[in-house]
Amino acid sequence: MEKYDLIVIGGGPAGYVASICAAQAGLKVVCVDKNKNLGGTCLNVGCIPSKRLLYSSKVYKNINENINNHGVEVSSVKLNLKKMMTGKEETVNKLTKGIDFLFKKNNVKRILGVAEIDKNKVVKVNKNKIYGDNIILATGSFSKELPQIKIDEKYILSSTGALSLKKVPKNLAVIGGGYIGLELGSVWSRLGSNVTIIEYLDTIVPSMDKDISKIFLNELKKQGLKFELSNEVVSSKISKENIILKLKDLKLKKVNSFNFDKVLLAIGRNPSTSGMQLEKLGIKLGKNGYIDVNQFYETSVKDIYAIGDIIMGPMLAHKASAEAQAVIDIIIGKKGQVNYSAIPAVIYTNPEVAWVGKNQSELDVLNIDYNIGKFEFSSNSRSKVHENTIGMVKVLSDTKSKRILGAHIIGENAGEMIGEFVVAMELGASAEDLALICHAHPTLSESIKEASSISAFGKTVHM
Ligand code: FAD
Repeated sequence: MEKYDLIVIGGGPAGYVASICAAQAGLKVVCVDKNKNLGGTCLNVGCIPSKRLLYSSKVYKNINENINNHGVEVSSVKLNLKKMMTGKEETVNKLTKGIDFLFKKNNVKRILGVAEIDKNKVVKVNKNKIYGDNIILATGSFSKELPQIKIDEKYILSSTGALSLKKVPKNLAVIGGGYIGLELGSVWSRLGSNVTIIEYLDTIVPSMDKDISKIFLNELKKQGLKFELSNEVVSSKISKENIILKLKDLKLKKVNSFNFDKVLLAIGRNPSTSGMQLEKLGIKLGKNGYIDVNQFYETSVKDIYAIGDIIMGPMLAHKASAEAQAVIDIIIGKKGQVNYSAIPAVIYTNPEVAWVGKNQSELDVLNIDYNIGKFEFSSNSRSKVHENTIGMVKVLSDTKSKRILGAHIIGENAGEMIGEFVVAMELGASAEDLALICHAHPTLSESIKEASSISAFGKTVHM
C-alpha cells in the first residue's frame, strides 16, 4: 500500500490549495478527485464560468444600451450564444489545466476516482488502498432541491445547467434570491430572457446591509428583473414544454400560477458528505449535515481534518482556500488560523455588491455603538467620468475606538474595492486611518476615504 504524509479528498479551492501548500511544506501528498478536471465547483461550474458569463453578458448589454453617451454608435449587435459559451469553456479549461501544472510543479500526486474511507488512515480509491498519516476531507457541496421540485437539468435547472443553456429562455424563473440566483438571473436577463426571481423571504440576500439591499433591489428591477418576494413555491408541473409554478403569496395568502420555459433552482447548497463511509469511522456530522470540526479543523477522529464547503461558514472559494492554508500550517505544527470576521463577500451583478464585517442590523442586535459614514458615487468624480453614478460606500466604525466594524459597497468595482477594507480590518485600522490616507485621484476608491471620513469625523470634503 502506497504511503503518504497526507491524503486530500477533493481538488476544489479547499483541496487543491491544501495539496499544494502541503507539498511546498515538504509533505508527501496525494489529492484524490472524482472529476477529470481539478478545481472543484469553483473552477468548473461555479465562480469562474459564472463570472465569465457575467462579464460577457455585461459587454453585450453595455454595447446594446450604455455606450451611446460616450459617443460610440453601433448599428447592429448580435448575440452569438454558442461563441459566448465556448469562451466560457476555454477560460475554465485554461484554469483547470493550470492546476494540473501547479500539481506537477509542486510534486503533488493526483488520483482520479471516488474516495472512500476504508478504515483509520486508509482510503480506498478505484479498488486500490492508500495510507495517509493525515487525511483532509474537502469534498465541497451540491445544489439543494425542494421536495416539490427536483432538478432534471432539462426544465428544472441547477446552477450547473443554467451555466450551459444552448438557447436564451423566453421566461426564466429563478427560485432563490441569493447571490447565485441573482448572478445567473442577471446573465440571462441581459441576454434577453424575462427573469422572475421568486424568494420566500421579503428581501433578497438577507445577509446584506439593509441600506445596500434597498438600492440593489431597485437597480435590478430597473434592469427588468421581476421579483416575487414573500412567495413560496407550492408545486411545479411540466406541461407542453412549459413549467407551471404555483406560488403562494405569503402576505396576501393567495395562490397564483405562472408559466416558465425554464426554472433555475438556486435555494442554496448542501455539504457533500455521503458516499465516503464517514459513519464507519465515527466522523460526526453537525447541524445541517456539515462535518463537525474543532478550531484546528480536526474532525471527531484524530488526524482526519475537514475544510471548505463541507464545514460551517460561508460557502465561498476564498474561505475554503484560507482554511486550506491554515490546516496545513496546523498539520506541520505552526499556528494556522482564519479570521472569519474579515472574509469578504461579493455579488458580481451590475451594480456589484461587496461587504466585509458586520452590517448595521447585526451591530444593533449586538448592542454595539457605531458611527456611520455613507458616501454616494454620485459625488465621486470617477463615477461621473464613467457615467455610472449608482452606488455608495458605507462604513460602520466603533464609536469609541473608531475601529472599522463593517464596510458595505454597492456600485462599479465594489468587489475590487472591498479589498482595502479587508486589509484595514485585518490590521485593526480605524476609519480615521482610512480617512487620512492619500487615495489616487480620480478613482472610485476615493469614496472609501470620504465615507471613512464621515464615519470618523462626521464630515468630508466632497459631500
Ligand atoms: P468544491 O469546489 O465543491 O470541490 C470539491 C471537490 O471534491 C470536487 O472537485 C468533487 O469532484 C470532489 N469530490 C467530492 N466527493 C468526492 C469523493 N468522494 N471522492 C473524490 N472526490 C470527491 N465562491 C466564491 O468565493 N466566489 C464566487 O464568485 C462564487 N461563485 C459561485 C457560483 C456558483 C454558480 C456556485 C455553484 C458556487 C460559487 N461559489 C463562489 C462557491 C464556491 O464554488 C465554493 O465555495 C467552493 O468551490 C468550495 O470549495 P471546496 O473545495 O470546499 O469544494
